[in-house]
Amino acid sequence: MNAEIIAVGSELLLGQIVNTNARFLSQQLAGLGINVYFHTVVGDNPDRLKSAIEIAEKRAKMIIFTGGLGPTKDDLTKETIARHIGKELVMDQTALESIEFFFKQTNRVMTDNNRKQALVLEGSHILPNEHGMAPGMVVETDSHIYMLLPGPPKEMEPMLLRYGCKALSSKNDSNEKIVSRVLRFFGIGEAALETEIIDLIDAQSNPTIAPLAGDGEVTLRLTAKHVDEASAQSMLDEMENTINQRVGNFLYGYDNTSLLEELTKALKERKLTITAAESLTGGLFQQELTSISGASSVFKGGVVCYSNEVKQQVLQVKQETLEKYGAVSEQCAKELAENAARLVKSDIGISFTGVAGPDELEGKPVGTVYIGIAINGTPTVVEKITLGGTREANRNRAVKFGCYFILRNLKESQNTN
Ligand code: ATP
Repeated sequence: MNAEIIAVGSELLLGQIVNTNARFLSQQLAGLGINVYFHTVVGDNPDRLKSAIEIAEKRAKMIIFTGGLGPTKDDLTKETIARHIGKELVMDQTALESIEFFFKQTNRVMTDNNRKQALVLEGSHILPNEHGMAPGMVVETDSHIYMLLPGPPKEMEPMLLRYGCKALSSKNDSNEKIVSRVLRFFGIGEAALETEIIDLIDAQSNPTIAPLAGDGEVTLRLTAKHVDEASAQSMLDEMENTINQRVGNFLYGYDNTSLLEELTKALKERKLTITAAESLTGGLFQQELTSISGASSVFKGGVVCYSNEVKQQVLQVKQETLEKYGAVSEQCAKELAENAARLVKSDIGISFTGVAGPDELEGKPVGTVYIGIAINGTPTVVEKITLGGTREANRNRAVKFGCYFILRNLKESQNTN
């Protein structure tokens, strides 16, 4: 079963909103084993919508529309489809009553064009709208299945999950389930990762492997199809194992997680607390850490030590260290991490010192970064990295590297114990 998604709305074409409905629908359809080969976006124009429908009919059996079910003149999805497939629009009493009820309840006056929202395609299966007024619907012709959903995601998403998915599965003539898993890597570039698994990528069929790079990270989306979901999962397990044998050192998590989330999880599991001494990153690490729910159990507080004065007075970095090696140095990073951990009485201290740019500092080039990691009971490690982005990108990247280094250290110490 192939489906095409047609998002209707001129605001999408004008770039005023992002087509998140297509993404959501695609994710849900994949889970139902329905292939989506095309996403189309078309403005609120009946002729162009008609031509989009004609094109979609040539390449998909199922056509799913979002948007254009509202009460205003430019909401034309139903009307255009009705004309195209030769069906009447008829009043749906249940939908009408629920619209009337909504207006009574909110003490608002109902207008004629609100009644228009209760018009549905004759013979359609209605999808109730529990978060708005326009009902969704599924209608079939001899050759195609059409599903009409409202545009606002807060109406469309629950409608699809509660009523739409069931309607779609019953129409799906294939029993195949599509299961996806995203592997998240850090510390290895896209090209290097691809080189390691190029033979697997070249030979891929089922599961498929889709690499994607972004913001210092690389992800691999593995997708398997099978009539039985458990078998699809074990096909993914097998592929993941093969990949892990080659680049597993860089794998830090799955699906929608982040390095910060994984770090928080790892600290919680080990009942460890962390603090930070941030020069280069000016508190970014602590800000991001505290945006993760549950951070309070692993983080008591930390220090933003942008100036040398604060490095010396609050964190007791030796004058000699700053004079001899400078603030951007391995020695300074080490003292910052160790002294912060002592000051806040945390199990782990991390420090960030470096040159964010655009100007060099202490004769050190932009992008030079030292990250100190002091873990109670193990020798302090200082990692030097060289970043090549803008000021903002360098600071963001440094935070990610910091998380990655701690995670790696924790994993290694677990493996040696
Ligand atoms: P309404 O009753 O609100 O008019 P509708 O079904 O007619 O609903 P539209 O008028 O096309 O839908 O869109 C209403 C709003 O829904 C848009 O302004 C936008 O915020 C959101 N929306 C519409 N289409 C999409 C889409 N494809 N992706 C994300 N949001 C969307």
